[in-house]
Amino acid sequence: MSTATEQRTFDSLNPATGAVVGTHPIQDAAAVRAAVAAAEPAAAWWGGLDWAERRKRLLDYKAVVTRDIARVVDMVHQETGKPKADATLEVILAITHIDWAARNARRVLGPRQVSPGMVGVNLAATLEYLPLGVVGVIGPWNYPVFTPMGSIAYALAAGNAVVFKPSELTPGVGVLLADLFAESVPEQPVFRTVTGLGETGAALAGDPGVRKIAFTGSTATAKRVMAACAENLTPLVAECGGKDALIVDADANVPAAADAALWGAMSNSGQTCVGVERVYVVDAVYDDFMRELTGRAANVRAGQDYGPVTMPAQIDVIRRHIDDAVATGKTVLGGPESVREPYVDPVIVEDVPEDSPAVREETFGPTLTVRRVADADEALTLANASAYGLAGTIFSGNVRRAMALARRMRSGMTAINSVVSFASVPALPFGGVGDSGFGRIHGADGLREFTRPKAVSRQRFALPGMNLTSFTRGQAELDRLVKLVTFLHGRRKR
Ligand code: NDP
Repeated sequence: MSTATEQRTFDSLNPATGAVVGTHPIQDAAAVRAAVAAAEPAAAWWGGLDWAERRKRLLDYKAVVTRDIARVVDMVHQETGKPKADATLEVILAITHIDWAARNARRVLGPRQVSPGMVGVNLAATLEYLPLGVVGVIGPWNYPVFTPMGSIAYALAAGNAVVFKPSELTPGVGVLLADLFAESVPEQPVFRTVTGLGETGAALAGDPGVRKIAFTGSTATAKRVMAACAENLTPLVAECGGKDALIVDADANVPAAADAALWGAMSNSGQTCVGVERVYVVDAVYDDFMRELTGRAANVRAGQDYGPVTMPAQIDVIRRHIDDAVATGKTVLGGPESVREPYVDPVIVEDVPEDSPAVREETFGPTLTVRRVADADEALTLANASAYGLAGTIFSGNVRRAMALARRMRSGMTAINSVVSFASVPALPFGGVGDSGFGRIHGADGLREFTRPKAVSRQRFALPGMNLTSFTRGQAELDRLVKLVTFLHGRRKR
């Protein structure tokens, strides 16, 4: 951090090399206020465009990001340290979300007639979903394109302006995403980025001009953001990570399950909110599963198959969880020596007590705890015994049984016979329960999240003898209404 110039700045660093990637201003509350104030008329302009024009602009933005994918990937690679191939996949996922949001906004949000019901037979009832104005997006560093874009694209498609505060670890990515948007929408600052540290995010959450905050990060910070939002009754959608479980049933494809568990846990160095952190394996296939898992894991290395731990402070959490797991469980692969900053090699531990920090707290590192269970029901009970409830995975050979287990899983998303596959389906809503947060991004729910429903009832003609909302109403009108309601609703079903 530097105060040499009149504006305070901070550096973003390459976590693999320590090299400075970029220097950005620390924008204070006044700068955030100015950004939001500038975004307000931009929101009015953007929200006033017709659906076709907004769709065209967003699809153009998608094309700009796609054509510039190498630049975006390089910035993600530099600021997070993740391999370029992983960064490429991340950006492609974000592109599919921009596309879906642009193409579906009108269908999901546009005006439609709804049935006025028998009592309202003389009314025309119209429902539409209107933009909120300026939406503040506070993003994380682990997927600095995909995760915030899950809010940004949907908020924009719904007709809002966006002020985005990227994580202080990935400001360059945030600035680039907004710069590319300005190529498609140069007229007004419809999507802009403010950079800085936590206090910049706090200023955004507390700004009276912000009509909704979309936050992704830790549960602890979400509580602080919620408190700041409370000041202005600003609504919040919060995505706060998880402790997701993978369940392997007796009839599962065991090699596929082991492959998915390994990738789900270790890819992106475990820094995935919907990553696999716990595995519960039914007794009948436990030994096979462990053989498959350890055989595959032996060849996976940090710095080769996945990148470094992006946030230096997270190393302490990962180390504490590894020490705890190794002390209380049975080590299968790796151990404390797997931590060689900024990299952490895969660590797998069996039979760690269910009440230990390694099983209860989010690790956000390339570690896995595995437990043998009697059956899938026991697996589900243990999987659900978490304060978090973001996502989860089920491997099973029986579709009906897997679907039933998925419905009973206390989480927002479940993948069956695949891992994190729900994130690649733009039509599926994304979000959690409990400590994992609330509200939804992605899909139709994600579009509606950034709107207010607007209900209009228009009287088409006066109902003769049925002027119920008037002091001229007589007993005869009320009697007629009671007769009608009794006819419509008075039949018992038993
Ligand atoms: P934080 O929750 O601290 O940060 C997330 C975002 O909030 C960042 O943009 C951050 O800015 C901003 N922020 C920080 N303080 C405030 C505040 N008071 N008001 C408003 N915004 C604020 O997460 P970290 O990046 O520190 O990661 C810590 C833990 O969070 C991880 O170990 C992991 O458990 C979890 N996490 C979960 C993610 C997920 O995908 N669900 C993503 C990232 C983290 P700044 O970066 O400048 O501090």
